[in-house]
Amino acid sequence: MLTLRAVHASYGPIKAVRGIDLEVHKGEIVCLIGGNGAGKTTTLMAVSGIVKPDAGSLFFKGECLNGVPAHEVVRRGICQVPEGRRIFPALTVQENLEMGAFLRTKDFSRNRERVFTLFPVLKDRKNQLGGTLSGGEQQMLAVGRALMANPSLLLLDEPSLGLAPIMASKIFRTIREINEEGVTILLVEQNAKAALKLSHRGYVIENGTIALQGRGADLLENEEVKRAYLGE
Ligand code: ATP
Repeated sequence: MLTLRAVHASYGPIKAVRGIDLEVHKGEIVCLIGGNGAGKTTTLMAVSGIVKPDAGSLFFKGECLNGVPAHEVVRRGICQVPEGRRIFPALTVQENLEMGAFLRTKDFSRNRERVFTLFPVLKDRKNQLGGTLSGGEQQMLAVGRALMANPSLLLLDEPSLGLAPIMASKIFRTIREINEEGVTILLVEQNAKAALKLSHRGYVIENGTIALQGRGADLLENEEVKRAYLGE
């Protein structure tokens, strides 16, 4: 579904991504793990068209994504949930969901029901301002808002960041449910253990390149991964 070949990306003189090759197949959950500043977020941003790659190519469903503007990437079926939630705090839950649906107005009711089934708390709070929700609820709203565009590939950047463990577990369970409904997922996570348990496959990114890759279950048993990322 998604292929990156030798992708490089930088911010002025800072080379954030240095030749990433990766693949995500339809129906998979794939995670990117790695330390701070390894290049995980930049990789997602290159896919969503927010960061322009310096070199390399990106393909989604067989079509080239290079040079495609971010709004057109969404229209093609890729939605990103950014790190730090970034919902609209001064808009209600309902209005936040409407913002996510600006390209899909015709399926609005069906998509909203699906989001409310996944996250009943959002239905209960649909008239509440986004900024007054708890951190976990804001993360649910950020994921729900992305689902309103009915993506076939969902990019999730650190969905568990800053959440209490019980809320993080709820988010991880919901990611699996969303995947089981047919949405392919590319996930960036600091919580390597939870991410690898959830994912079919994973990539370890170090200094802007892929250091290791494999099935989630195999990476959990990898000695290097255990030492560097699982604290074992
Ligand atoms: P983290 O988990 O800390 O978010 P990451 O693996 O997602 O890390 P990136 O955010 O992709 O890493 O950052 C890769 C490199 O690019 C780092 O050296 C970072 O400092 C740099 N960088 C990221 N965003 C910018 C920016 N907007 N301007 C300049 N440098 C940036």
